[in-house]
Amino acid sequence: MSPSPATHYRGQIAAMATKHHKAQLVSPVLAEILGLDVVEIEVDTDTLGTFSGEIERTASPHDTAIAKARMGMDASGHRIGIASEGSIGPSQSIPFLQVCTELVVLVDDIRGIVITGTESAYDLVAVSADVDPTSDLADLLRRAQFPAHAVIVSALGASVPTVIKGIQDLVTLHAAVRTCTERSPHGRARVETDLRAHKCPSRQPIITRAARDLADRAATACPACSAPGFGLIRNDIGVPCSWCGYETNTLRARIHGCVSCAVEHSEIIQPELADPGHCPWCNP
Ligand SMILES: [Zn+2]
Ligand SMILES: [Zn+2]
Repeated sequence: MSPSPATHYRGQIAAMATKHHKAQLVSPVLAEILGLDVVEIEVDTDTLGTFSGEIERTASPHDTAIAKARMGMDASGHRIGIASEGSIGPSQSIPFLQVCTELVVLVDDIRGIVITGTESAYDLVAVSADVDPTSDLADLLRRAQFPAHAVIVSALGASVPTVIKGIQDLVTLHAAVRTCTERSPHGRARVETDLRAHKCPSRQPIITRAARDLADRAATACPACSAPGFGLIRNDIGVPCSWCGYETNTLRARIHGCVSCAVEHSEIIQPELADPGHCPWCNP
């Protein structure tokens, strides 16, 4: 009998490249579910781009996460690497809402696979406002959940970028607003949430839930080739309306797949016809 997939990683060591002590957000669930030991490798991963966009990311978040994991593997010599990467953008399903998506990847050069855990959330604290030294910041700071969440202040439109990060007290904040206002040709400073994980408590549980998704996948063996990492790869949307036959956005099946071989299993959710209540023609 092949060993259970949880034992694939039991007692093994994974390198996690991070600048901001993110390992504490992922290592407890990886230890609990997989028995995998995560060691933090201090590497400046900002060269790959930053969440807040001062250094533009050129690759997709997934490719960036894999590149980060490889930085930790290269620096340490470990053949398993972990990395996390977040992105924030408009929701595809809910208009006017921002969604935060966190990825945690496990790059496994022993088996030649990459396993990815994800989590999306709408409750990330993220504010942005342009101010000057006379502005009343009380409402903005309440929405920003300051000082538990840090803010960044930058000089709006300045030819030489002036960015002051990690601000968590009022004295530093007011001084930063004055400095950035003076350096802005418009006399305005931008105050926004510091989205780096160690300065943004509302991001931290999202990363931990992505790590749990990763661990659950890594603990699930492929029924065909027994590689670890079997799990949901996509949702199959589109079921005809039972009244008019129009293809509604109802979930038809969840497709589970392997990271190593081509096998896919459909978990049928709604096989035949959709409720007209979900049809844009019958129930607009
Ligand atoms: Zn219909
Ligand atoms: Zn397989």
